[in-house]
Amino acid sequence: MVENKRAKINDNCIACGSCASACPVDAIKLAESGDHYEVDMAVCIACGSCASACPVDAIKLVEVK
Ligand code: SF4
Ligand code: SF4
Repeated sequence: MVENKRAKINDNCIACGSCASACPVDAIKLAESGDHYEVDMAVCIACGSCASACPVDAIKLVEVK
């Protein structure tokens, strides 16, 4: 776990749901719009599993304060 990072999903997301399935802390949900997923940064522990699971490389770990 990286304390000062969180996963962030960008516009490349095709809403396949693989990241949500891979997340050990259930931090990823389908957005209200239904066309992409989003990370609850308050829950994410920056394990990186979602980024590894994404088929379109839409998830990056970003620095947070
Ligand atoms: S980095 Fe880990 S904890 Fe954070 S959203 Fe991705 S799978 Fe979940
Ligand atoms: S795995 Fe990638 S493409 Fe699939 S829902 Fe997650 S961010 Fe979107």
